Amino acid sequence: MTKPYDPNNVFARILRGEIPNKTVLETPHTLAFHDIGPQAPVHVLVIPKGAYVDFAEFAAKASAEEMVDFHRACAQICEMLGLTGPEGYRAITNAGTHGLQEVPHYHLHILGGRVLGRLVA
Ligand code: C5P
Repeated sequence: MTKPYDPNNVFARILRGEIPNKTVLETPHTLAFHDIGPQAPVHVLVIPKGAYVDFAEFAAKASAEEMVDFHRACAQICEMLGLTGPEGYRAITNAGTHGLQEVPHYHLHILGGRVLGRLVA
Protein backbone atom coordinates (compact mmCIF):
# COMPACT_ATOMS: atom_id res chain seq x y z
CA MET A 1 0.00 0.00 0.00
CA THR A 2 1.23 3.50 -0.84
CA LYS A 3 2.11 5.55 2.22
CA PRO A 4 -0.07 8.60 3.02
CA TYR A 5 0.77 11.79 1.13
CA ASP A 6 2.98 14.21 3.09
CA PRO A 7 1.67 17.73 2.34
CA ASN A 8 5.01 19.21 3.36
CA ASN A 9 7.19 17.31 0.90
CA VAL A 10 9.45 19.54 -1.17
CA PHE A 11 7.39 19.33 -4.36
CA ALA A 12 4.18 20.21 -2.50
CA ARG A 13 6.07 23.25 -1.22
CA ILE A 14 7.19 24.11 -4.76
CA LEU A 15 3.56 23.86 -5.90
CA ARG A 16 2.52 26.25 -3.11
CA GLY A 17 5.24 28.71 -4.18
CA GLU A 18 7.19 28.30 -0.92
CA ILE A 19 10.33 27.06 -2.70
CA PRO A 20 11.54 28.50 -6.02
CA ASN A 21 11.91 26.41 -9.15
CA LYS A 22 13.04 26.89 -12.73
CA THR A 23 9.75 26.28 -14.48
CA VAL A 24 9.80 24.79 -17.97
CA LEU A 25 6.04 24.47 -18.42
CA GLU A 26 2.91 24.94 -16.35
CA THR A 27 -0.53 23.67 -17.38
CA PRO A 28 -3.80 23.43 -15.41
CA HIS A 29 -2.84 20.10 -13.78
CA THR A 30 0.92 19.83 -14.27
CA LEU A 31 4.19 21.61 -13.45
CA ALA A 32 7.57 20.88 -15.04
CA PHE A 33 10.87 22.33 -13.85
CA HIS A 34 14.61 21.77 -14.18
CA ASP A 35 16.06 19.33 -11.62
CA ILE A 36 18.36 21.14 -9.17
CA GLY A 37 20.95 18.37 -9.51
CA PRO A 38 20.89 17.59 -13.23
CA GLN A 39 22.17 14.14 -14.22
CA ALA A 40 22.25 14.99 -17.94
CA PRO A 41 22.29 18.14 -20.12
CA VAL A 42 18.49 17.98 -20.04
CA HIS A 43 16.96 16.88 -16.75
CA VAL A 44 13.41 17.99 -16.18
CA LEU A 45 10.95 16.83 -13.54
CA VAL A 46 7.28 16.68 -14.44
CA ILE A 47 4.82 16.60 -11.56
CA PRO A 48 1.04 16.53 -11.31
CA LYS A 49 -0.45 19.32 -9.20
CA GLY A 50 -2.60 16.74 -7.44
CA ALA A 51 -1.40 14.99 -4.28
CA TYR A 52 -0.14 11.59 -5.51
CA VAL A 53 2.76 9.83 -3.80
CA ASP A 54 3.95 7.80 -6.76
CA PHE A 55 3.24 6.52 -10.24
CA ALA A 56 0.93 3.73 -9.14
CA GLU A 57 -1.22 6.09 -7.08
CA PHE A 58 -1.37 8.62 -9.91
CA ALA A 59 -2.29 5.93 -12.45
CA ALA A 60 -4.96 4.50 -10.15
CA LYS A 61 -6.57 7.70 -8.86
CA ALA A 62 -6.00 10.65 -11.19
CA SER A 63 -8.86 11.77 -13.40
CA ALA A 64 -8.69 11.28 -17.15
CA GLU A 65 -8.32 15.05 -17.51
CA GLU A 66 -5.31 15.11 -15.16
CA MET A 67 -3.68 12.16 -16.92
CA VAL A 68 -4.13 13.60 -20.38
CA ASP A 69 -2.86 16.98 -19.19
CA PHE A 70 0.21 15.37 -17.59
CA HIS A 71 1.17 13.28 -20.60
CA ARG A 72 0.49 16.03 -23.13
CA ALA A 73 2.74 18.27 -21.00
CA CYS A 74 5.48 15.61 -21.17
CA ALA A 75 5.14 15.47 -24.96
CA GLN A 76 5.30 19.28 -25.18
CA ILE A 77 8.42 19.37 -23.02
CA CYS A 78 10.18 16.78 -25.21
CA GLU A 79 9.32 18.90 -28.23
CA MET A 80 10.36 22.20 -26.56
CA LEU A 81 13.70 20.81 -25.38
CA GLY A 82 14.62 19.23 -28.71
CA LEU A 83 14.35 15.62 -27.55
CA THR A 84 12.05 14.21 -30.21
CA GLY A 85 14.80 13.41 -32.75
CA PRO A 86 16.38 9.98 -33.21
CA GLU A 87 18.78 10.56 -30.29
CA GLY A 88 15.78 10.39 -28.01
CA TYR A 89 15.61 10.67 -24.23
CA ARG A 90 14.69 8.69 -21.12
CA ALA A 91 11.53 9.10 -19.03
CA ILE A 92 11.78 7.35 -15.69
CA THR A 93 10.16 7.36 -12.26
CA ASN A 94 11.30 6.06 -8.90
CA ALA A 95 8.95 4.72 -6.23
CA GLY A 96 9.40 3.79 -2.61
CA THR A 97 12.48 2.61 -0.76
CA HIS A 98 13.49 -0.01 -3.32
CA GLY A 99 13.12 2.55 -6.11
CA LEU A 100 15.17 5.07 -4.09
CA GLN A 101 12.44 7.69 -4.33
CA GLU A 102 13.60 10.79 -2.45
CA VAL A 103 10.59 13.04 -2.86
CA PRO A 104 7.22 11.42 -2.08
CA HIS A 105 5.23 13.30 -4.71
CA TYR A 106 4.92 11.53 -8.08
CA HIS A 107 7.42 12.88 -10.62
CA LEU A 108 8.68 11.78 -13.99
CA HIS A 109 12.33 12.46 -14.77
CA ILE A 110 12.92 13.38 -18.43
CA LEU A 111 16.61 13.05 -19.26
CA GLY A 112 18.44 13.67 -22.50
CA GLY A 113 21.19 15.47 -24.34
CA ARG A 114 23.79 12.69 -24.03
CA VAL A 115 24.06 8.93 -24.26
CA LEU A 116 22.58 7.70 -20.99
CA GLY A 117 23.88 4.75 -19.00
CA ARG A 118 22.16 1.40 -19.19
CA LEU A 119 19.54 0.79 -16.54
CA VAL A 120 20.83 -1.77 -14.08
CA ALA A 121 19.24 -3.15 -10.93
O1 C5P B 1 13.21 10.22 -8.02
P1 C5P B 1 13.75 10.91 -6.80
O2 C5P B 1 12.68 11.16 -5.75
O3 C5P B 1 14.95 10.23 -6.22
O4 C5P B 1 14.24 12.31 -7.35
C1 C5P B 1 14.09 13.52 -6.67
C2 C5P B 1 14.71 14.57 -7.53
O5 C5P B 1 14.28 15.83 -7.10
C3 C5P B 1 16.25 14.59 -7.49
O6 C5P B 1 16.76 14.39 -8.82
C4 C5P B 1 16.57 15.99 -6.94
O7 C5P B 1 17.72 16.55 -7.53
C5 C5P B 1 15.29 16.76 -7.30
N1 C5P B 1 14.99 17.95 -6.50
C6 C5P B 1 14.78 19.16 -7.16
N2 C5P B 1 14.45 20.27 -6.42
C7 C5P B 1 14.37 20.20 -5.09
C8 C5P B 1 14.59 18.97 -4.41
C9 C5P B 1 14.89 17.85 -5.16
O8 C5P B 1 14.88 19.24 -8.38
N3 C5P B 1 14.09 21.32 -4.40
